[in-house]
Amino acid sequence: MTTKVGLRVDVDTFRGTRLGVPVLCELFDEHEIKASFFFSTGPDNMGRHLWRLLRPAFLWKMLRTRAVSLYGWDIIFQGIFWPGPIIGKKLPAQIRLAARGGHEIGLHAWDHQAWQAHIDTMTMEDIRLVLRKGFDTLTDITGTPPTCSAVPAWKCTDSVLLAKAEFPFVYNSDCRGSSIFRPVVDGKTLSQPQIPVTLPTYDEAIGKNGITIANYNEFMLSQVKPGGLNVLTIHAEVEGIACAMLFAHFLEAAKEQDISFIPLGELLKEAGHIASGMITKTSFPGREGWISFQGDIHGEGVCHDRRP
Ligand SMILES: [Zn+2]
Repeated sequence: MTTKVGLRVDVDTFRGTRLGVPVLCELFDEHEIKASFFFSTGPDNMGRHLWRLLRPAFLWKMLRTRAVSLYGWDIIFQGIFWPGPIIGKKLPAQIRLAARGGHEIGLHAWDHQAWQAHIDTMTMEDIRLVLRKGFDTLTDITGTPPTCSAVPAWKCTDSVLLAKAEFPFVYNSDCRGSSIFRPVVDGKTLSQPQIPVTLPTYDEAIGKNGITIANYNEFMLSQVKPGGLNVLTIHAEVEGIACAMLFAHFLEAAKEQDISFIPLGELLKEAGHIASGMITKTSFPGREGWISFQGDIHGEGVCHDRRP
């Protein structure tokens, strides 16, 4: 039986939008795959983010994951020595390419770097404002309001959930976890379901536990659970540029194992009853600071299988 994997493409940067999105669109066409693209539409200040993290552990990560070849020097300096370009203003054609290709279009961020750096101190008003800017820009570009959203870096709070409830999102994908659920905030179950990401990302997995380029695809396919919820996040900057060949091989190997890829919204149709749950904060190997994780309604983490 075919195992379905929800495929989510996060687009964080100018470079990822310009170069990675067209490559992925073409690859998906070849394989007759429809995916969900989550776009960042405001300024690209990701270089600032990378420099902010410049400390021994991060330096090690840069070396381990070959960050320069992954992101490119232009991204590493972006937003430090010159202001970050507004992605949606400069690259609407690439965003429209994904929309016209029949892929699901969602909002990732207005300013990815600012969200990652400041979400802990952003007020409800700040959150509303950046969601609104990202939402309106994406609507102007594609001519259709985005139907879903995914916070940058899996950093979601109760305020974020409440702010998102004011937008017409059919679902959000803001955390890691193991099943589709409706988040509870202040004792109230919100109507927008969460579709958590279940599989590790490239930068989390590579270089650890003996996982190399040579066995990466095999490892990732071994993590797909038949009969369970499977959601994979790839990055336009990674699988669309530096690791495009590796990812093309991944799709071929998946086909041989009868694994097919669908937009996250399609997973909702097969979800049946959707239980309530909480979003909790947790540390996560290979991620900076905290990330949002699916917990049960008492706030306990339900997924203990956090490797790698
Ligand atoms: Zn992102």
